[in-house]
Amino acid sequence: VTPPATVVHTFADAVRRAPDHPALAYFDGRLTYAEVDALSDSVAGHLAARGLERGDRVAIMLQNSPHFVLALLGAFKAGAVVVPVNPMYKAGEVAHVLHDAEVTALVCADRAWEAYLRDTAADSPVRIALTACELDLQSRNDTRVLSFERVTPAPADTDDLLAVARAGHPAPADRELTSADIALISYTSGTSGTPKGATNLHGNITHNAERQRTGLGVAEGATYFALAPLFHITGMVCELVACVANAGTLALAYRFEPGVVLDAFAEHRPAYTVGPSTAFMALGAQPQATREHFASFDSISSGGAPVPPALVEKFRAAFGPYIHNGYGLTECTAPCATVPPGVEAPVDPVSGTLAVGVPGPDAVVRIVDDRGADVPFGEQGEIAVRGPQVVPGYWRRPDATAEAFPDGELRTGDIGFMDANGWLYVVDRKKDMINASGFKVWPREVEDVLYTHPAVREAAVVGVPDAYRGETVKAYVSLRPGADATPDELSAYCKERLAAYKYPREVEVLRELPKTASGKILRRELRSPGA
Ligand code: ATP
Repeated sequence: VTPPATVVHTFADAVRRAPDHPALAYFDGRLTYAEVDALSDSVAGHLAARGLERGDRVAIMLQNSPHFVLALLGAFKAGAVVVPVNPMYKAGEVAHVLHDAEVTALVCADRAWEAYLRDTAADSPVRIALTACELDLQSRNDTRVLSFERVTPAPADTDDLLAVARAGHPAPADRELTSADIALISYTSGTSGTPKGATNLHGNITHNAERQRTGLGVAEGATYFALAPLFHITGMVCELVACVANAGTLALAYRFEPGVVLDAFAEHRPAYTVGPSTAFMALGAQPQATREHFASFDSISSGGAPVPPALVEKFRAAFGPYIHNGYGLTECTAPCATVPPGVEAPVDPVSGTLAVGVPGPDAVVRIVDDRGADVPFGEQGEIAVRGPQVVPGYWRRPDATAEAFPDGELRTGDIGFMDANGWLYVVDRKKDMINASGFKVWPREVEDVLYTHPAVREAAVVGVPDAYRGETVKAYVSLRPGADATPDELSAYCKERLAAYKYPREVEVLRELPKTASGKILRRELRSPGA
């Protein structure tokens, strides 16, 4: 089946097939496909009336809520490119994205706007601000607080997203997009360096969403649960767009809070969800979790971080469903290898790792050496991917694009191998990235913050094993002569400036960091001392 050209076309197909079917379910609120269509038209009309032009960038910095979907579709209908931003980001992290992508419009939560985004945006190309009311999951017995409706007034210098959506503006007529247009600029650090934007085309997204729709065994119109965040490519493609392609209902619960998620499973009876393996560990560890909570699922997937085979077994024994592994990157628009329905992934007897899946019929995966030549069959090498889901490159970064995509083939920076039956295994990483339960942390970014501290002379950040997160962030520093700073102080200093998953939970002060003969700090040596 040829996928629709753009996400807007995918959505229009669902509106035609099932106008009165709920598209979004959020606590007690429901919006049908026809309603989401009209509301997002109005957002598009507002953005165009405020001067947003085709190709302009709209940053969306929201948790999983209907507002996210209205803003996304509104932006696409206005011909814009969406820049998803993690709502956990602090001012410095957001500022980088707003400048790098030259963002014209920002959609965010009231509290974040008032706390620091107003200042961050004032200093950037942002000209249009839309806000949505923030939820308080702690007071979830208070239905008023959990409503999709606004319970506090919008900040004075912004427009309320919901009011804009309900104003009945017609969408601009001249903004139709094609499969080759950029849909998202997704910030990632690629294999090294500072965050850069992978340009996911509409065609990349609809392609992978269509594969997810047909490859899961989930019925048309079924309910999908948005466990992975929508600002992340997995949530965007495997939850939102795949659900819309299936004319299904997307159930949302703001952000991951295990007790709230279990209640939402009981209420919405989802057939499909995807999240990092730690999310399933956290759900299973809730004292109130029973098999009944998971009885509605036809399929569950996990990806973005290693899936321990023992977790899959324990989860199945306790709750019933088999967790399907899946492998992908932002640069290949979420999965490029998945475990087909009704099949179980094998475990490699040597490394003990669970296969991540088999490459899709249209994703060509090779295992290559440093020069890009195929390694002998069965041997380990870098995973390289080519196919219709691979992005053309990074936003305005021809150098980084040439490095990561020689001849258009993505070099993933992951080390793996393929077995005789075509199963792909991921066993190691070439890149310095730290994977804390699917949240990616780039040592350089944390080190850059440490270097702004007056007492720090040298800094090196590595991932260390963590029973729950898989890996956690650790910093090694040496101090300037005569300067003084405690590990706790340095950790707190980073916490103030970085999203919560990035700051070093552990800091160790050394007299001197290990270096190469040329003076380069040896991160690898710190990761496995003595190795
Ligand atoms: P996915 O589409 O699988 O969820 P992602 O959206 O998390 O990936 P990124 O944040 O770009 O994408 O991270 C991609 C990196 O995550 C990969 O390069 C790899 O190191 C790691 N990764 C992804 N899936 C798996 C998996 N199933 N097992 C082990 N590592 C994985």
